[in-house]
Amino acid sequence: MKIEEFINVFDKYKSILNINISDEQYNELYYYMNNIIKWNEKVNVTAITDEKEFIEKHLVDSITVNKYLKNSNSIIDIGTGAGFPGIPLKIMNKEKKFTLVDSVGKKLKVIENINENMNLYNLEIIHARAEELANNIKYREKYDVSVTRAVSNITTLMEYMLPFIKVDGIAICMKGPNYESELNEAKKAIEILGGKLIKIDKIKINENINRNIIIIKKVKNTPAKFPRKQGKPLKEPIK
Ligand code: SAM
Repeated sequence: MKIEEFINVFDKYKSILNINISDEQYNELYYYMNNIIKWNEKVNVTAITDEKEFIEKHLVDSITVNKYLKNSNSIIDIGTGAGFPGIPLKIMNKEKKFTLVDSVGKKLKVIENINENMNLYNLEIIHARAEELANNIKYREKYDVSVTRAVSNITTLMEYMLPFIKVDGIAICMKGPNYESELNEAKKAIEILGGKLIKIDKIKINENINRNIIIIKKVKNTPAKFPRKQGKPLKEPIK
């Protein structure tokens, strides 16, 4: 796909995103897409390799949460995989500090390799489990925003995400259709970990793709005993 076609396809979603995109940002999104698809032949990082589908399901979808970053300086994407939503959001917010975390190192190597030829500074890529890193004082309660897409259920996510966020910051969970039952189950975890549900934003990307964005505000500090040790937030979610 040529860059002109890329921009044409992308522009169809601009009314959903309500955003201006510069030529430089288009070039970077295009470069990232092409290189992920190329790297995917060696290291399997995504099932989506059709370019139009990639634009819709990876790039546009990642940028749906951009409006929630306006008042923030520091963002942590937990379980970023091949850099979603972190890299498209970083491209849209060059001045903000981004940390991308994943427990699988080979996916992060792909991002690092691609970024060698991109001008994305103030970007930290960390190979770790969220529940380890959140107990490191360098990272604990240091972020304005934590974001996750397709990582876990909301109860487990709260234990991964809320410890990283400063009081008054927000957790953004990008969820699919089953968010309601997950959110009901997560009520206690949200409260115990210092969060408060403030918004559910439903965005229709097309006839078949609905993105549900759950916004949890951090209203008080997370007790020091959370997150529990490796694997526990997933195996024994707070009830
Ligand atoms: N967010 C990316 C996306 O939407 O394309 C990747 C989603 S992938 C389904 C889930 C990712 O979360 C995997 O790369 C996995 O290694 C990572 N992950 C799961 N649990 C994690 C944890 N406790 N700490 C760090 N990363 C984790």
